[in-house]
Amino acid sequence: MSEHKYEKWIQKDNVVIDGIDISGEWNKMYEPREITEYDITGLEKVRELPGGESMNWCYQCAQCIGVCPVDNVGSYGPRKIFRKLQTGMDLFTHDDLWMCTTCSNCLRVCPKEVDMMKIMPAAREQAVLNGHVPAELQDMLQNVAEYGNPMGDSARKRVKWLKKFDEPVRDLTKENDPQPVDVLWYVSDYFSFHGRGNDAAKSMVRVFNRLNVDFGILGKEEKCDGDSQRLVGETGLFEELAEHNGAQFDKYDHNKLVVSDPHAFNAFKKFYPAVTGSEYNLQHYTQFLAEQIDTISKLMKRPFPKKVTFHDPCYLGRHNGEYDAPRKLLNAIPGIEFSEMYRCKEQGYCCGGGGGGMWLDGLVADHTTERLSENRVKEAIEVGAEVLAVCCPYEVSRFEDAVKSTNNDGKLKVMDIIEIMDYCMGDDAEA
Ligand code: SF4
Ligand code: SF4
Repeated sequence: MSEHKYEKWIQKDNVVIDGIDISGEWNKMYEPREITEYDITGLEKVRELPGGESMNWCYQCAQCIGVCPVDNVGSYGPRKIFRKLQTGMDLFTHDDLWMCTTCSNCLRVCPKEVDMMKIMPAAREQAVLNGHVPAELQDMLQNVAEYGNPMGDSARKRVKWLKKFDEPVRDLTKENDPQPVDVLWYVSDYFSFHGRGNDAAKSMVRVFNRLNVDFGILGKEEKCDGDSQRLVGETGLFEELAEHNGAQFDKYDHNKLVVSDPHAFNAFKKFYPAVTGSEYNLQHYTQFLAEQIDTISKLMKRPFPKKVTFHDPCYLGRHNGEYDAPRKLLNAIPGIEFSEMYRCKEQGYCCGGGGGGMWLDGLVADHTTERLSENRVKEAIEVGAEVLAVCCPYEVSRFEDAVKSTNNDGKLKVMDIIEIMDYCMGDDAEA
């Protein structure tokens, strides 16, 4: 960093301007500060990336800082990253590269459209190519490349949750001559492999069956949707996953693709078509069910007399503009007392799981005072909620951990909306 020479000034002995004598003391000028000695190679490298040019448009207004969820628990945001780049940071080897959850809240308010959703994946792609990847993320990427899921479980285990589960589910991969289905349900990794995700997956099946939905799943042929892998810069892996899943969608005749996961929704809607050449007739499950709200309301007879709040998933809300469908379902729950959190809808607070954050808790913890999910759980408690409702498979596990680590065990329950609906439709599930 250069040293500012504030004490250096120039004074001319004789100066007359517009007939006024300003000789001596009166014309004392400070020399311009030397600010050109920083190494800005890192900044140049970022702005030359495909999609990276907007980093250079930042004019330091700081709109982004107030809304950045990471800054809320640390020191972060596009403004600060740009300033660090101007003063010599090499983003490609710096932890700042991995802290952004790509929640898109900064882009929402930035007058210059500095786009972290393009900058970060492009910069991370370079870091991945150069082998600069945090170890915890590397493990996840290896698991997905090898097994098709971040957990590193075998493809066969994807349908383990269906064992000893009596509800009818058509696993299309097990049928000799699979007939068309109305709905091809993309179950997703956390619903398939995570214990609490399994609970929500079972609720989905029960709700679908009560509504007589003609649906099928891809069983062991389903693979991770790849959106988080794309966002951490593993473009090649994303393309492989898109080709694989796209081929399955083509193979099994269906009218509609319904997904449990907003990240899958985002990938299939915005990024698969460039790889597979196909557009998909796609809905998030909340959208699919919200269309049947009249039938659903009649089926939900069992009251759920709890104070409930709702966490907008970034990739359903800000990224894809869907705020109403989940609320429509929640408002139809009998007996519910619903309150919004302060940061909701367009201003929703990120859970910390997006953009690879799901597998970066260790690195993020080194730079923040608390996890984003902990910050969010405290907000839910503040509005008096007994239940935090979610509709993204990442969130039940993230928020349940946060409930424990903030000592709120027993005070706040985390439930997927589908679990609440299942509870209200029957007497076989526990709330
Ligand atoms: S809102 Fe945009 S222009 Fe303003 S400081 Fe942030 S990135 Fe820069
Ligand atoms: S995308 Fe979200 S986490 Fe990333 S810098 Fe912008 S506001 Fe912060």
